[in-house]
Amino acid sequence: MEPLLAKNVGARKSLVKSKPAFLVDAMLGSVARKLRFFGLDTLYIADSPDDEIIGIGIEQNRVILTCDKDMYRRIMKAGAQGILLNGSDDLENIAQTFFSLGMMLGPYIDVGSRCCMCNGLLSEISHAEVKGKIPFSIVNWHTQFFECKKCNKLFWEGSHYLNLRALSKRIDSRIKERLEKNNSYATDSISQSIVKKP
Ligand SMILES: [Zn+2]
Repeated sequence: MEPLLAKNVGARKSLVKSKPAFLVDAMLGSVARKLRFFGLDTLYIADSPDDEIIGIGIEQNRVILTCDKDMYRRIMKAGAQGILLNGSDDLENIAQTFFSLGMMLGPYIDVGSRCCMCNGLLSEISHAEVKGKIPFSIVNWHTQFFECKKCNKLFWEGSHYLNLRALSKRIDSRIKERLEKNNSYATDSISQSIVKKP
């Protein structure tokens, strides 16, 4: 499967240079939750007309992630920023996203900063504050707890945190492989053009 190129991110826009914000459309809910877990500002909109989604993307300077080719064409036509994803799993889709932006994921990760359910910001709360709100066994076995300021959901560093941190490393390895492959193509074409010179 060919990776998407950085030029696919908004034909008339420059590439995102700071921490990117995303808008994820239907079919990619699991990608949205993982991006939020990594601390990236990610809206998930599943049931709105395409024009409305594109309007929000432009207004809020968000990169729209979609796996719908027609939607992607509309995004490009409107001059919005978008990436067409065609990965078979979340790892591949997130790697495609960051590769298309010309970025690694690692530098932007801020675990424990954003709610994966509603995109609200998390704040750390004390051991004493979670007592009575979650099962005793969890309170006793963990040291760090977070609460979403928007939906009040509680989070703690469980095994899923370790799994997702490991996933982020695999995503970065895949992006790196792709960047290296791209660089070797670029080097090959430069050396070929040098050889061809009279
Ligand atoms: Zn929340």
